[in-house]
Amino acid sequence: MNNYLKFLVIVLFIGCGNDKKTTTEVVEVDQTTIANHIKRLASDEFLGRKPFTEGEVITVNYLKDEFEKLGLSPGNEDSYFQDVPMVEITGTPSKHMVISGKKGSFNLDYLKDFVATTNKAETEVSLKSSELVFAGYGIVAPEYGWNDYEGVDWKGKTAVVLINDPGFKSGDSTLFKGNEMTYYGRWTYKYEEAARQGADGLLIIHDTEPASYGWNVIESGWTGARLTIESDLPLLNVESWISGESANKLFDASAMKGQDFKTIARDKNFEPIPLDVKVSVEIKNNIKKDVSKNVVATIPGTTRKDEFIIYSAHWDHFGIGKAIKGDSIYNGSVDNASGTAGLLAIAEAFKKSGASERSIVFIALTGEEQGLLGSAYYAENPIFNPKKTVANINIDALDSPGKMKDLTITGYGQSEMDEYAEEAAIKQNRYIIPDPVAEKGYFFRSDHFNFAKIGIPALYASGAYEGFDISIDEVKKHNDYYNANTYHQPSDEYNSETTELSGVQLDLQLFYDVGLKLSNEANFPKWYDGSEFRAARK
Ligand SMILES: [Zn+2]
Repeated sequence: MNNYLKFLVIVLFIGCGNDKKTTTEVVEVDQTTIANHIKRLASDEFLGRKPFTEGEVITVNYLKDEFEKLGLSPGNEDSYFQDVPMVEITGTPSKHMVISGKKGSFNLDYLKDFVATTNKAETEVSLKSSELVFAGYGIVAPEYGWNDYEGVDWKGKTAVVLINDPGFKSGDSTLFKGNEMTYYGRWTYKYEEAARQGADGLLIIHDTEPASYGWNVIESGWTGARLTIESDLPLLNVESWISGESANKLFDASAMKGQDFKTIARDKNFEPIPLDVKVSVEIKNNIKKDVSKNVVATIPGTTRKDEFIIYSAHWDHFGIGKAIKGDSIYNGSVDNASGTAGLLAIAEAFKKSGASERSIVFIALTGEEQGLLGSAYYAENPIFNPKKTVANINIDALDSPGKMKDLTITGYGQSEMDEYAEEAAIKQNRYIIPDPVAEKGYFFRSDHFNFAKIGIPALYASGAYEGFDISIDEVKKHNDYYNANTYHQPSDEYNSETTELSGVQLDLQLFYDVGLKLSNEANFPKWYDGSEFRAARK
């Protein structure tokens, strides 16, 4: 059952120099369409949709065929595909990282005390007696008047920085965003910034609370093969984490002996401090190159076809892996057959609606699970002018036990996309809430983040807190069960008897509504004043 009534909206356009009228019908995003596509994409036939496998070939061809059947145009000139060249780097670091000072040297042990990787596709990279300089939180944030790198020529030097940002646990909600993690708090940002500064390497000091995970996660997550995109951006020779204990040892041997480096880093007038110790480490790399694909399709606009609304969802998952309870296919039904099916269902709805003023773009992205790679590549090699891209609506892992009353926005307070979402939510008798665990930085952990980085306002949201007919406790139980038993496991499967899609439909209807409104107006939603992405829009 669905309460939506079909109705016609006549949108009048004023100010384009003509009096052309666009008639766009508001339609229902079809729940059967959603179910059919999830069922197919999450079936064993798709082999878990892993990049570079037969599962990729089946998946991207399926998506191309379905977009074509719906009558969408190829998004990349005459092709539905954007090639995404990737590099697989399997690094073997030296057993020790050597820290040497005036009073002698000591070794840090690989895995126990440090990890080291690189995104440079070179067979050998190293730090050779590279001078260590403490750079606080490793942040350059013009909107806060903050620069941890100022006044140092970083060539040949290695920065040592803290994880997270100065606001975390400061008790001051006006210092950055207080406990809420900003982009500057993420390790990805810290490596990128150090590379932009021209440094040789970066050591991030691990600390469980501000990182939000223990050393064990670093140990397992930073070994083995890593996949990255071929990029022209500056890269460090060595990206490293060191344990908190190792950091204490390092500071004890340094020019900062006896000083509280954590307090010093929080000072607004912080300046980089040379530590008078040096670091050496090397990594031998095994390099493989391969090409994966984003799938791109469009519905061209009528009078503003050079302005774009981009819907995105990652098609990839983990393929075939370690068997759990006798099942080795990681079907990824929620993550992210749901979002990929959502793209097709929303595309179908737009086709039924009739053409909008602006163009609608659908991108099924590759490599999200390996580090948001398909979207990172797109952001570096955009097909559609980012300045003319009105907004991104990203769909990842929709799963709710029924129709939700809330719409939880991850990254609430970043841009006017909040207001568009709220307006659409009110139409569905729903309310908006911010992500309750903003300190975990989920805004930076799915593909919309890469659109945000190039200045495109992005919406990432879903119903996740309270149902119309389901209590807050019951919803929480459902979410906890998913996180413990389904997330990234072979049991993330579609079941036509038990998979509940009414809440998924409601969320997709909202995303369609937001996009439809944007597609028939002249406004470009703006980033709010305090947003770390505002500068990229200018
Ligand atoms: Zn996902």
